[in-house]
Amino acid sequence: MARYTGSVCRLCRREGAKLFLKGDRCYSGKCSFLKRPLPPGMQAKSRRKKVSEYGLQLREKQKVKRAYGMLESQFEKYYGIAERMKGKTGENLLRLLESRLDNVVFRLGIGDSRAQARQFVLHGHILVNGKKVDIASFLVSEGDEITIRKKSADTDRFKELRESEARPMPSWLTMDNANLTGRVIAAPAREDIDLTIEEHLIVEYYSK
Ligand code: SF4
Repeated sequence: MARYTGSVCRLCRREGAKLFLKGDRCYSGKCSFLKRPLPPGMQAKSRRKKVSEYGLQLREKQKVKRAYGMLESQFEKYYGIAERMKGKTGENLLRLLESRLDNVVFRLGIGDSRAQARQFVLHGHILVNGKKVDIASFLVSEGDEITIRKKSADTDRFKELRESEARPMPSWLTMDNANLTGRVIAAPAREDIDLTIEEHLIVEYYSK
């Protein structure tokens, strides 16, 4: 299946939640979800329609998949890995998604959205422990250092980042904007994931 190229705000409305897909706009009063939190094409009256159990499970899966910018097949692959890991499958799944390099670059504030962070990774701007990593799905580990390639660090985009304040971020990450250096200081914990997710619904969806 091809990657979605339509309006990302439409995805938030479809999933009934802010998915933070559009950078700064998501944190401003211009967020379209705040203005019109209804699914695309849905009239106010039909909001009362009862959603089936399957519908709830499907929507939760779609919400997480879209928030992290995954294709169906990629998401299923992560689910399979999460299932084989020790512990709760739903939490394992979220931890895996959080540990992806594109997500980490977003969380550190290097990219304004996961999509932009993915571009930075794919275009070779990002170093992990001093080595270029251009694989968005690369999983970071505790102790990893995330920096910007020297040639890229001199561009306007990263100069601006160097002069800005670090964005609030989860406790498992730290960022020194002045030196364009981020660190993974722990594994991501479930409570660090700020999106409202009922992961048990995703487990139920795949358990059928
Ligand atoms: Fe658009 Fe971001 Fe608001 Fe979602 S959270 S509707 S992507 S502005």
